[in-house]
Amino acid sequence: MTELDLVPMAVAPRMDRLRASMDDAGTDALLVTNLVNVRYLTGFTGSAALLLVRPKGLLFVTDGRYRDQSADQLAESGIDADIEVHTGAGQQEAITAAVAGAVRVGVEADHVTTSQHQAFVTTWFPDAEVVLTVGLVAGLRRVKDAGELSRIGAACAVADSAFDAVKVRLADRPSERDFALDLEFEMRRRGAEAVSFEPIVASGPNGAKPHARPGDRRIEPGELIVLDFGCKVDGYCSDMTRTVSVGEPPPEAQRMYDVVLESQEAGCAAVRAGAKASGVDRACREVIESAGWGDAFLHGTGHGVGLEIHEDPRVAATVGDTLAVGHVVTVEPGVYLAGRGGVRIEDTVAVTDGGCDVLTTSPKQLVLE
Ligand code: ZN
Ligand code: ZN
Repeated sequence: MTELDLVPMAVAPRMDRLRASMDDAGTDALLVTNLVNVRYLTGFTGSAALLLVRPKGLLFVTDGRYRDQSADQLAESGIDADIEVHTGAGQQEAITAAVAGAVRVGVEADHVTTSQHQAFVTTWFPDAEVVLTVGLVAGLRRVKDAGELSRIGAACAVADSAFDAVKVRLADRPSERDFALDLEFEMRRRGAEAVSFEPIVASGPNGAKPHARPGDRRIEPGELIVLDFGCKVDGYCSDMTRTVSVGEPPPEAQRMYDVVLESQEAGCAAVRAGAKASGVDRACREVIESAGWGDAFLHGTGHGVGLEIHEDPRVAATVGDTLAVGHVVTVEPGVYLAGRGGVRIEDTVAVTDGGCDVLTTSPKQLVLE
């Protein structure tokens, strides 16, 4: 793997911000069960953990597979927690003992099943009120710190460089599946630990389906090819779409491309701290509507990107979010004509005071040279 130059992560300060939001939510304990949230708060990357946050104490419970890894990763993050290693009922007993005296215990409503909730109320926390909290950690995760921006930026740069290396192979009439594999291989060879989602390579009529899966279809000269892909660096995702063609496409395809590019540029120009996410969506949609293709823009304009490929804030007509410095979102309008093809252009951008930093920098040029 290539060594990437990354800003050190500052994990520990996140706990103070979480405790402040627990105060606002009126809970005196919070059980974090979502593993992405556990990672965000502690740096732990394993597949089994519970984190109990009290105003003055932190209990991390995992199983034997992660005894050493959890100790190492929490120490590296500067997290001062009691770590207990148990299986099954032992995990519940450790958490139940640690909430003694708590009156209101918060759980993560977006990540708890109905049966888990039942167990929390009857078995885990019988002496407390179980409070369904929404988005306490997700709210913190919206604003990326320097370490996170560095990782998202590195993931975007890896994807840019992989695409630059493999795009020439589109002229060899590869199958969509083979080209997707080439992209994935080059991203990993350049330092990505994984793809952030299965790459979309949608050629010709397949491009009319925004989330087409790559298949055996061969990519032919003169047709639109929608390429949507990204990778992960140290847990953080990138996301980019380019639409290209090998050789001259028909005039309608060029017109679709020009309209989507104008829309995407209008969307990026509307991004700044203080702007409504719905206003960015509007800026994109207006351009496509005035070209007569409003009904062919089949999805929202974008989404937040971070530890997950889709996270808050969303960029859509129906959301009330206001963008803030440190948000990282995508701007990805598209036009999809059934049976004919599609165009989508997407950048991942970091919101700043006066605008945004565009993190995905691959050229936006329909016809490949
Ligand atoms: Zn994408
Ligand atoms: Zn996206």
